[in-house]
Amino acid sequence: MNIILLGPPGAGKGTQAQRLVKHRNMVQLSTGDMLREARTSGTEMGKVVAAVMDRGDLVTDEIVIGLIRERLAAGTTDGGYIFDGFPRTLAQADALGALLEELGESLDRVVEMQVDDEALVARITARSTCGNCGEVYNDNTKPIPADGVCTSCGEAAEFKRRADDNEESLKTRLLAYYKQTSPLIGYYHAKGTLVSINGLAAMEEVATSMDQALDG
Ligand code: ADP
Ligand code: ZN
Repeated sequence: MNIILLGPPGAGKGTQAQRLVKHRNMVQLSTGDMLREARTSGTEMGKVVAAVMDRGDLVTDEIVIGLIRERLAAGTTDGGYIFDGFPRTLAQADALGALLEELGESLDRVVEMQVDDEALVARITARSTCGNCGEVYNDNTKPIPADGVCTSCGEAAEFKRRADDNEESLKTRLLAYYKQTSPLIGYYHAKGTLVSINGLAAMEEVATSMDQALDG
């Protein structure tokens, strides 16, 4: 089964995606992660996207569609794909539909994770990830272990904060979400694939709603 996780920055898409990867053998395709990799690679494309990302604006459709096209062409997966942070515009949504159709694949569910803006700001400014495996930590709900050893990969890792996880960039990211991405809610509702869940509940509750959304 192939799914999209839709929601504003900080809605918990990455955290839920990591869980689905573990429990359902799915493959997470996060355009945010791909772009962060691209920017550290030192390529021309990496340099262009770095500035755009730090501001909180969207990278061009051409670049992100190219990244997704490459990954999909690289092979299939038994558990299916989780599209995390993609599509973010109607053009990207159309492109994804066409790519999946070419591969004879379906888009089975679009799960919208609903949260309010205040919660997003609090979550994002408290967020950090394991530099080794990408496990997400939160100063309030899931602090970095005192011994500095990641609970997921068991490594004494460096815990990183993202350059765009500050209040100024976050404002731009939220605006981009409402202007460019939220129209996808109507788009997928019309296609009959949309399921909305409460992303503000405790992590286990969100996980339960996610399972119901996928299996129901
Ligand atoms: P979040 O959802 O927490 O804001 P992501 O890691 O998904 O973060 O994305 C970080 C940044 O990468 C975005 O603010 C944007 O600049 C860029 N980006 C990621 N995915 C896309 C996309 N599908 N289209 C355009 N830009 C994207
Ligand atoms: Zn780790």
